[in-house]
Amino acid sequence: MKSFPHSPVTCDDDYDPYSLTVETAQICILNAVSPLEATEVVDLRSALGRVLAEDACAAVAVPAATNSAMDGYALRGAGLPASGKRSLEVVGVSRAGVPYRGEVQSRQCVRIFTGAVMPEGTDTVVMQEQVERRGDLAVFGSEVKPGQNVRQVGEDVAVGQIVLARGRRLTPADLGVLAGQGLAQVAVYRRLRVALFTTGDELLEPGEELAEGGLYDSNRYTLLGMLQRLGVEVREFGIVGDSREQLESVLSEAAADADAIVSTGGVSVGEYDLVREVLERVGSIEFWKIAMKPGRPITFGNIGRAVFFGLPGNPVAAMVTFYQFVQPALRRMMGEQPLPAVLSFKAICVSKLRKRPGRVEFQRGVVEPDGEGRMVVRKTGQQGSGILTSMSQANCFIVLPLDSGPVEPGTLVEVQPFFGLV
Ligand code: AMP
Ligand code: MG
Repeated sequence: MKSFPHSPVTCDDDYDPYSLTVETAQICILNAVSPLEATEVVDLRSALGRVLAEDACAAVAVPAATNSAMDGYALRGAGLPASGKRSLEVVGVSRAGVPYRGEVQSRQCVRIFTGAVMPEGTDTVVMQEQVERRGDLAVFGSEVKPGQNVRQVGEDVAVGQIVLARGRRLTPADLGVLAGQGLAQVAVYRRLRVALFTTGDELLEPGEELAEGGLYDSNRYTLLGMLQRLGVEVREFGIVGDSREQLESVLSEAAADADAIVSTGGVSVGEYDLVREVLERVGSIEFWKIAMKPGRPITFGNIGRAVFFGLPGNPVAAMVTFYQFVQPALRRMMGEQPLPAVLSFKAICVSKLRKRPGRVEFQRGVVEPDGEGRMVVRKTGQQGSGILTSMSQANCFIVLPLDSGPVEPGTLVEVQPFFGLV
């Protein structure tokens, strides 16, 4: 745990000597989870976003044969006259899928099209725009360089090369690389099973009538969306009341077949000791205060063989803690490795930001180019941890470091783009 320079704690800052830093909590969580072992074979068509369970080694070269990168004329580059017009006899055609079978001599050339195999005896292509046809002759100038406009066999992928390593989360480009190897199926880790529920006697299901003191359950939908984007299998347990019995029965049912359980609400320090008591009884759970805003309290541990994440109830806090802690842990459990570095960069903040030292803040912003080659970021209105529209309007977090104070317009700040996860 970090030791804090400010002591005693004052009202001008948010230092709390009993807090964990974001990094410490992230490391503790990552170290406590392990990757799935079970694998399955799926069709390439349904492999997008799945995690490769074996290295994919190239069995074929790409391209499989040296071929033309242009429409034009294939010829032998060596022995062309050094200057003046060249004139070669056109002896045939090579097009994609229908190669020219003969061997081309030095005074000859072959009409060739993009992707066609280079005929024997040729190594150079002159593009058609540079060639004048005079009957059976192709006439062109001295601008031709031997070897030009040709794709060499294996220049993209060589036989035996690892094209994609185990642990890779498959992207559209990766699917193409695998298809380029002639693979129709691929071995991936099985889907991670995640149980999801929200807690609170005040919560209502969308579609129900709004009762006095009631609140529609938005967290389950933001979390469901983020989990779906991660590609896990979600089992929803709905809304769980603030009751010992309900919580205990949902937790034991969820833990019976889930790899991970995600819940929100009911675990803030000092409130509902019954929740805490149940969690401690059914599993091995830690209650952490994190030096961050929003999202100070989170709960992490195990119930049976399932990993448990108890996120704060406030909607923005639930999303921020999911993004910072749950998402990397689930990716590790899904077999993804190495975990990609969190993308962040500096942008000029054009808003004034309130901030007290003592916690890392994840404020919500919109980052965009200013039209003059710079990236600028502005905050999305109010920053309270209950203001969910601040997330919905944002495309990034503005990450303000632990020790920093307020931000004046014009200051460089760090931003973390959401990129589809949120
Ligand atoms: P809690 O941590 O249970 O005390 O929740 C803190 C606050 O978050 C509550 O007062 C609610 O306003 C809000 N909240 C809790 N759960 C949800 C939820 N599932 N959807 C939307 N807001 C919630
Ligand atoms: Mg609650």
